[in-house]
Amino acid sequence: MAEEVKQKRVLMGRLDHGDDLLNSLTALCKEHDVQLGKVTAIGAVQKAKLEYYNQWNKQYEESELPKPLEITSLVGNVSIKDGEPVVHAHVNLADSDGNTYGGHLAEGTIIFATEYIIEVYEGAILKRQFDGVTGLPLWR
Ligand code: ZN
Repeated sequence: MAEEVKQKRVLMGRLDHGDDLLNSLTALCKEHDVQLGKVTAIGAVQKAKLEYYNQWNKQYEESELPKPLEITSLVGNVSIKDGEPVVHAHVNLADSDGNTYGGHLAEGTIIFATEYIIEVYEGAILKRQFDGVTGLPLWR
């Protein structure tokens, strides 16, 4: 599948210290009526919670990283699930030795300081619906 979209506007700013990273990005999208877009961010977190999708049993496995980490890269998208904007993001996080951890960004990742850019697109609506093959809510 492929949808052709156009960039409509770009939001850029800083997220609040102590807030949940995923929930903050989702709240911004709802507040600014972003239904389709691209999210990028850099910064640092006080602690993180990542998920890994186990393809065999079709379950997310959580991993907690209870320490300060740099967000070396956050890349995600915005689409619609159950009638609401939803942010799907993956992150790479680095510790003080430069070791990196990566995965699906989960609730429970707490912001130290984060700068984001959200590119807002128009021209299509991508909705997530349950996909029986993968067990994931994929675009249709
Ligand atoms: Zn994911």
